[in-house]
Amino acid sequence: MLDPDNWEQFRAQSHRMLDAMIDHLETLRERPVWQPAPESIRDHFRTPLPDDERDLASLHTEFMESILPFSVGNTHPGFMGWVHGGGTPVGMMAEMLAAGLNANLGGRNQIPLEVERQVVGWMRDLFGLPERSSGVLVSGTSAATLIAVTTARHRAEEQGLKSDSLVAYASSEVHGCLARALDITGLGRGALHPIACNGQQQIDLNQLQQQISHDRHHGLTPWLIVGSVGTVNTGAIDDLTALAAIARNAQLWLHIDGAFGALAMLDPELAPRLSGIECADSLAMDFHKWGQVPYDAGLVLIRDGELHRRSFAATDSYLQRATTGLAANTPWPCDYGIDLSRGFRALKVWFTLQSFGRHKLGRMIAHCCQLAGELEALVQQHPQLELAVPVSLNIVCFRHLGDGTLSESAMEKFTREIVCHIQCSGRSAPSLATVNGRSVIRAAIINHRTRHEDIVTLIDATLAASKTCLPPHGDSL
Ligand SMILES: *Cc1c(COP(=O)(O)O)cnc(C)c1O
Repeated sequence: MLDPDNWEQFRAQSHRMLDAMIDHLETLRERPVWQPAPESIRDHFRTPLPDDERDLASLHTEFMESILPFSVGNTHPGFMGWVHGGGTPVGMMAEMLAAGLNANLGGRNQIPLEVERQVVGWMRDLFGLPERSSGVLVSGTSAATLIAVTTARHRAEEQGLKSDSLVAYASSEVHGCLARALDITGLGRGALHPIACNGQQQIDLNQLQQQISHDRHHGLTPWLIVGSVGTVNTGAIDDLTALAAIARNAQLWLHIDGAFGALAMLDPELAPRLSGIECADSLAMDFHKWGQVPYDAGLVLIRDGELHRRSFAATDSYLQRATTGLAANTPWPCDYGIDLSRGFRALKVWFTLQSFGRHKLGRMIAHCCQLAGELEALVQQHPQLELAVPVSLNIVCFRHLGDGTLSESAMEKFTREIVCHIQCSGRSAPSLATVNGRSVIRAAIINHRTRHEDIVTLIDATLAASKTCLPPHGDSL
């Protein structure tokens, strides 16, 4: 009933839509990185649910005029805000194929599950986890972290540990999805004892050990250590080998947040900095950031696959398994996570990994780090710019010093205004972050389209914005 009445017309319209999107991707650089949407555009999205049919060509026109020009802009080479992947044309096509197939990857006897298992297996091997490890694709690292924390908690329960005494440790720079996962599992944010960072924004190992002893002494149960591979603010990589040793000695669960940084494993020069990752009890990561897979696609890996299955296995009678027929091919992805109905995310990941291969993806990741180094050098060369923290991976945090007379509070306002001004200029899109208690301009180089000229544009745009945003002299308090 909902298929086209005229397939020829539908085909012609679909080809036009595909061409328009390919044109868009081919010419990204010609447009602003981002532009704010006028109110008149927002009004399109306040109309009531339509009663009647509407023709596809007119819907596409509305998409081209009112949606496409006003998205975040993370496909654009000048986008450096937060940590957003750029996507690829190959990923876009894989999304279309997956949507056409409309497979439900909750389980059942179908080859799409093998595609997901292959992707999980590739990552398990990339990170050096054992064969008995399990994994499941999820929306992103936030969901992956929740699954990891739930599994770690399940082990604690099996060990008879009292859940209200469990303590998790991570650096003060850890991503907020950890506290959220602790909240959702009922342990509460208070179960997280944040540990101070050293000058490289890595977890301070001495303080960690002291805190573990202190907590044990006070009747608490040290339970989980979370290491970061690429912190969200500055791209710092914790000393995973040391964390693994501490976790082993104190019998804690080691979880690694590798949201974007884990894929640095694909570059042979960066990989040694991740050593220790093979000791993880669980690992959360994204394909939609440095992997350039279109949103959304994340992964959780759990070292003890049996424990993982026990923590989530779906046992309801309507999900019972068989040895042949559609209900065969167990275990199913729904046994390893929260979702029962799940899309074929694995296909766009599989297409991306197959299409580019590990060498090209590794080179792309190394290139982002090289650009970050070049940006760091440009900041250091300019007398009015100040680096906030040494560049560890692909994130550069810096400030413009104004005329040198601004108070700290005036500097805060000045920095926030510069960031907004650059974003609104459409030339470049850094974001604002807080490092060592101060606001900074933050550029995360994670888009495969970014080139040296985009780094230069960011510096130019910063210098131009500083002139507009600088408070009049004598008004600096
Ligand atoms: C982005 C990010 C997350 C959250 O991942 P989502 O995919 O957005 O859910 C967690 N940790 C770090 C370090 C991140 O950069």
